[in-house]
Amino acid sequence: MLFIVCFYNLNVNIVMFIREFKKQTRHVRKSKMGKEHAYKRETTMCVFRCDSCDREFERTRGSMDPKRLSNSYFHVCKNCDSKKFAQKKGVEQKQKWNMTASSSTPISKL
Ligand SMILES: [Zn+2]
Repeated sequence: MLFIVCFYNLNVNIVMFIREFKKQTRHVRKSKMGKEHAYKRETTMCVFRCDSCDREFERTRGSMDPKRLSNSYFHVCKNCDSKKFAQKKGVEQKQKWNMTASSSTPISKL
């Protein structure tokens, strides 16, 4: 069983990095004795607007490079091809991806 409680933090309302909120998930685990234990886990979620399709999407904060939690970077949702998006944006935007032409950083990590 899974319960989800969301606490929205609406004071962050900027263009691409929209807001973050904490998602609390409550799980019930059954012990060997048949007793039920409830436990909670809290995850900080970040909401972005996709630079490619304009849809909002979420990511767990832990999976993000803290440097990318700013609007100096592009954020592309998983429905969009970030590689194609990067190509479309072209060379002049390359600095925003914090990459040089010789960089080996895979775009899929963004
Ligand atoms: Zn998208």
